[in-house]
Amino acid sequence: MRFLITAGPTREAIDPVRYLSNHSSGKMGFALAAAAAKAGHDVVLVAGPVCLSTPETVERVNVVSADDMYAAVEERIDGVDAAIFCAAVADYRPAKVAAQKIKKKEGAMTIELERTRDILGSARGEFGFNGLLVGFAAETENVKENALGKLKRKGCDYLVANDVSDASIGFGSDDNAVTVFSSDGREISLGRRSKDELAAELIGIFTGVSGK
Ligand code: C5P
Repeated sequence: MRFLITAGPTREAIDPVRYLSNHSSGKMGFALAAAAAKAGHDVVLVAGPVCLSTPETVERVNVVSADDMYAAVEERIDGVDAAIFCAAVADYRPAKVAAQKIKKKEGAMTIELERTRDILGSARGEFGFNGLLVGFAAETENVKENALGKLKRKGCDYLVANDVSDASIGFGSDDNAVTVFSSDGREISLGRRSKDELAAELIGIFTGVSGK
């Protein structure tokens, strides 16, 4: 199979030296890319700015902003069998990017933000993607309810939810614990384990190779 995987954070420029971003390390997406490649699949990995080396045989495309990631995915999703959107894409970006470094002044400052485009949410519509579609959801509350809403709204086959309110797993950690929801009503809980181990199990679930 041919996989397209997004990973890592995005950076949304405020001025030439500052940006908005998040704590995503990219480890989960890179582990998924490595696991899919190891299982013999072709993998294109669209990666935001992270300090991780490219898994063997994986084709890596580096991007910075949500807009860059959108364009990279749009360009490559055709002909892909499975798309896994693991990236922590910024939901908002500064409405204007200052051409010069913003100087500090007395008092508070306000930055107006505008929405970025939802890459996962564009897969079924704008991109016309008919393959296996997997989304991720980092939630701090109402994990199941939010995950099921996202699964349906975005037309996913699988939605992988992690509860990021537990600081010892998830962002930046080598371990993770997730619950996988499927469009055919399955709910699979995978307790705490390494992201590498978890990735191999997830690829098994998505490709129907595992017994789960
Ligand atoms: O709605 P929410 O942003 O929480 O959904 C998370 C899922 O959507 C993740 O799979 C993430 O990679 C994807 N996403 C995206 N483009 C965005 C925002 C989120 O692909 N702009």
